[in-house]
Amino acid sequence: MTERRCGKVYVQSDDDRVGSARCRCGDPAVGECTECSRMVCADHSDLWQGWRVCDRDLAIARVRARSAAAAEERRREEEAAAAEAERLRQRTTLLELADEDAVWILYARDQKRTQQEIRSAVHVLRGLTAAEFTDVCLYLLPYARDPQKQRTGITSLSGWLLTGSGYHGRSWFLTRKGEWHRSATAGTEQGHTWKKVRFDDVEKRAVIDEMSWQQSIDSGIV
Ligand SMILES: [Zn+2]
Ligand SMILES: [Zn+2]
Repeated sequence: MTERRCGKVYVQSDDDRVGSARCRCGDPAVGECTECSRMVCADHSDLWQGWRVCDRDLAIARVRARSAAAAEERRREEEAAAAEAERLRQRTTLLELADEDAVWILYARDQKRTQQEIRSAVHVLRGLTAAEFTDVCLYLLPYARDPQKQRTGITSLSGWLLTGSGYHGRSWFLTRKGEWHRSATAGTEQGHTWKKVRFDDVEKRAVIDEMSWQQSIDSGIV
């Protein structure tokens, strides 16, 4: 005599155990619980992932599944909270940067910057006076790029162009002598009509804003 267990409701005529066995309620059993091996009727058992399980073990299995799902949900929430805390830390913590490093981060576009680097650079440069900002640009820009020529009337200017597709309809040209010129054209190397500007705090802030905006675009942050 062989005993087969498929977990389904079955009546096996050649198996006395099932044939004569009764559930705890007194009804004829339809099978055996795969967990506790007690004989169970259809009312006091069910199929759990294809296996016949008594009502008591079924309740335990459901509680376990629920607590496993709850633990998994807690773990996901904790991970998300940790990631958010790291994002916040990066947003609010500023890097210690030398003035020239700050200019380099905003001017040189050979590599992507993080939002933290850009924010830190802006913070450092906003703390400089207009004259200090000009000095650090004159110190650093030659390392980033050879000076180039721009025409203004009959005069030829030599210096560095600050422009980009993200500059809001304006560009600057800083000459080697430290004079600032502004143009109402942005994003091109040529075709500028330069007008010399008095480089004050407002002008300095505008330059920093455009540099950081352009760097954010190039770095894929905005
Ligand atoms: Zn059971
Ligand atoms: Zn029963």
